[in-house]
Amino acid sequence: MAELNCKLLVIGAGPGGYVCAIRASQLGVDTIIVEKDKPGGTCLNVGCIPSKAIIHAGDEYHKMAHATEGSAIGITAAAPAIDFAQTLTWKDGIVGRLNGGVAGLLKKAKVRQVAGTARFHDAKKVIVDGPEGETIIKAENVVIATGSTSVELPFLPFDGTFVQSSTDVLADPVLPKKLAVVGGGYIGLELGTALAKLGVQVTVVEAAERILPQYDPELTKPVADRLGTLGVTVMTKTFAQGVGDDGKSLLVKDADDTETIIACDKVLVTVGRRPVTKELDLDRLAADMDGAFIKIDETCATSMRGLYAIGDVTGEPMLAHRAMSQGEMVAEIVAGEKRVWDKYCIPAVCFTDPEILTVGLSPTEAKDAAHDIKTGKFPFMANGRAMTTEREDGFIRVVARADNHQILGIQAVGEGISEMAAGFALAIEMGARLEDVAGTIHAHPTKGEALQEAALMGLGHALHI
Ligand code: FAD
Ligand code: NAD
Repeated sequence: MAELNCKLLVIGAGPGGYVCAIRASQLGVDTIIVEKDKPGGTCLNVGCIPSKAIIHAGDEYHKMAHATEGSAIGITAAAPAIDFAQTLTWKDGIVGRLNGGVAGLLKKAKVRQVAGTARFHDAKKVIVDGPEGETIIKAENVVIATGSTSVELPFLPFDGTFVQSSTDVLADPVLPKKLAVVGGGYIGLELGTALAKLGVQVTVVEAAERILPQYDPELTKPVADRLGTLGVTVMTKTFAQGVGDDGKSLLVKDADDTETIIACDKVLVTVGRRPVTKELDLDRLAADMDGAFIKIDETCATSMRGLYAIGDVTGEPMLAHRAMSQGEMVAEIVAGEKRVWDKYCIPAVCFTDPEILTVGLSPTEAKDAAHDIKTGKFPFMANGRAMTTEREDGFIRVVARADNHQILGIQAVGEGISEMAAGFALAIEMGARLEDVAGTIHAHPTKGEALQEAALMGLGHALHI
C-alpha cells in the first residue's frame, strides 16, 4: 500500500477544494488533493457551468422563436430548430475545457493530485481507494471539501429517466414535451425557465406559498410574471406525492388536500441539496455536526484540531464563490497567516429570467438587525438602456443606515443583472455610503445608472424619476 505524507490534505477538488489547494501551494505548503471524480466538482461538472450553458441556449432559442411572431423592433425570423444533443456536446466541450484548466492550475501550483475516494482512518490519516489500489495519506491538516448532492424524496426516488435530478437533466439529450418540476427554488426555476424557453411545457410545483421563498416578494414578482409570459404553470402551496399510477404523471396535493395529476414525460426534483459525507467514515472522528452538515467556526475549523471543512458540506449558502473564499482563507491559516471570516456579504444570484441579485442585508434583515434604515429603489422602466434592450422589468434597491448612510445591502432584479454583482459587493465591502455611489459617475446609457439613481433616491433627490 502506497504511503504519502503532506502538510495539507484537501479532500474534494470542487471550487472550495481546488482553490484551497492552489492557494496553500502558492504559500509553500506541501499539499495533496484527492478527488474521486473529475476536477471542478459539482459547480463545473453538473452545476453552475452546465446550467448556465443550457440557460444561454434557452435564451438564444427563445429569442429566435419569439421573432417568428414579428416584433416591435421590426425583426421577423423563420422558426428556429434545435439539435439538443449538439447543445449538450457544446456544453460538454466547455466543461471539458474547464476540467483540463483546473487540473492544469493544480499541476502548475505543484499540488500533488491523487485520484480516488477518501475515507478517514483518523483525523491525521486518510485512506484513498483509487484505480491503482489503496493509498494512505498522513497529513498535519485535513480540509473536507466534499460538497453536496441532490436531495431525494423517498416517495419520488430518482431513476435517471422519468424522475430526474438536475444532473440527469443536464445530461439528457431528449427534451421532454412536458416537464413537471418539484421545487420552485434556485435549480428548479433556473432549469425550468431554460427548458420552457426551449419549447418544453413546464409545470412548477412549490410547497411554499410562493416561488423562491428565500427572496422577498418584491424581488420575485418580476420572475413570477415572466414565468407566466413564458407559459410556465406555477402551483404554489402544493406538495408532490409521487408518480401517478399510469407512470406518466406526477401526483400532487395542495394545502386543502385536493389532489391533481400532472401529465408529464419527465419529473425534475429540485428540493435542495444534502452534504456528501457518507464515504468519509466520519464516525471514526469526533467532529461536531450541525445536523447533517459539518460544524465549523469563523475560521472554518471543525471541533477537531487540524481538521477544517469548507463549502457545501458546511451548509448554506451553498454557493461556489463562498466555497472558494473559504478555501482561500483556510489555506492561508494553514500557512500560518492570521485569518478569520470577515466578509460583510456573499453575493447571491439566481439566474432566472429576469435574474435576481442580492448582496448584503434586505430591508427586513436590516430592520431585524436593529438598524434604522433608508431605502432607495429605481425601476428599470425609467432607465434608457433598459428601454433600448426591450427589458424594462425589474429594479435596483439600496438599503443604507439612516444615520451615516453606510450601505448595508443592494438587491436587484433585471435582465443581465448578475454582471453587477461585483460592483454591488465592492461597494459594501468598501463601506461605501449613499453619497459615494451617488457621487460616482456612472456611464450612460447603462443599467448600472439605476444603482446611482437608487442611491440618490435614498438621499431624497433622485434625478430621473
Ligand atoms: P463540490 O463542488 O460539490 O465538490 C466536491 C468534490 O468532492 C466533488 O468533486 C466530489 O467528487 C468530491 N468528493 C466527494 N467525496 C469525496 C471523497 N470521499 N473522496 C474524494 N473526493 C470526494 N453555485 C453558484 O455559486 N452559482 C451557480 O450558478 C450555481 N449553479 C448551480 C447549479 C446547479 C444545477 C447545482 C447543482 C449547483 C449550483 N451551484 C451554484 C452550487 C455550487 O455548485 C456549489 O455551491 C459548489 O459546487 C460547492 O463547492 P464545493 O467545493 O463545496 O463542493
Ligand atoms: P432550493 O432550496 O433553492 O429550493 C428548493 C425548493 O423546493 C424550495 O423552494 C422548497 O420550498 C421546495 N420544496 C421542498 N420540498 C418540496 C416538496 N416536497 N414539494 C414541493 N416543493 C418542495 O434548492 P435547490 O433549487 O435544489 O438548490 C440547492 C442549492 O444549490 C441552493 O440552495 C443554492 O445554494 C445552490 N444553487 C445555487 C445557484 C445559484 O447560485 N445561481 C443555482 C443552483 C443551485
